[in-house]
Amino acid sequence: MTYTSPLPVTDGHFYRGSSLELRDVSMAYVDIEVIREVSIDVEPGTTTCIIGPSGSGKSTLLRGVNRLHEPTSGDVLLAGESALKMKPERLRTRVGLVFQHFNLFPDHTALENVALALRNVKGMSKSESLRVAAARLDDVGLGERSDHRPRDLSGGQQQRVAIARALAMEPEVMLFDEATSALDPELVKGVLNLMAGLAQRGMTMLVVTHEMGFARKVADQVVFMDEGRVVEAGTPSQLFDAPQSPRLQRFLSEVL
Ligand code: ADP
Ligand code: MG
Repeated sequence: MTYTSPLPVTDGHFYRGSSLELRDVSMAYVDIEVIREVSIDVEPGTTTCIIGPSGSGKSTLLRGVNRLHEPTSGDVLLAGESALKMKPERLRTRVGLVFQHFNLFPDHTALENVALALRNVKGMSKSESLRVAAARLDDVGLGERSDHRPRDLSGGQQQRVAIARALAMEPEVMLFDEATSALDPELVKGVLNLMAGLAQRGMTMLVVTHEMGFARKVADQVVFMDEGRVVEAGTPSQLFDAPQSPRLQRFLSEVL
């Protein structure tokens, strides 16, 4: 599969990606530790894909990065600054998170879904929020459907609206948690293409995915997690062509 982005190449819009560093991050639910001293460095403008079995802690880790669930120890550095010391609301404008389920407001159009976030979070005026929202929907190839409500859009289009909403905040880093897992197979490619386009345009991305083809082609770095730990990390070719640990070898033999 080749990844050609629906983002216009001509608009000269390159993202201002920041570095993201996870340093010995541990996390727990009540007193059960599920993330154990995870360290991951994502260089500005690069994409890191996290792979691993269900229950290995991938979602929890992403939630820790933008503090929907607080790490118990370690640190997260955004452009060198401790994310754990920032106001969570501010952190979440700088680090966008896109989930499997898009959580759009069902009674609002695509345009309003993006514009509302701009007014609520960025305090924009109504007219400016509509102008920026229209531009971001254009970016994700949905300019012509901006007046559609979520139910009148395909799952893939709804996910692109959710991505446009996150991009409208002008994030420095984007996190994706299995953004294509809930989509019908024929809709997956459009969303992966969009994500690949963001990567090409210099967005810093941390992507949890089951799409091994995407990880291989788009990632600068792949991280394999199991039981809350990083078991192996390296380039796509290191992990996919020469996996070192038996656990990764077993995982790949099951998914590839
Ligand atoms: P993944 O995204 O890799 O499938 P998760 O981060 O969802 O893994 O889960 C990691 C571990 O944390 C699992 O053992 C899971 O059962 C547990 N877990 C996830 N969410 C909760 C929660 N809200 N309360 C308690 N345990 C949870
Ligand atoms: Mg998960």
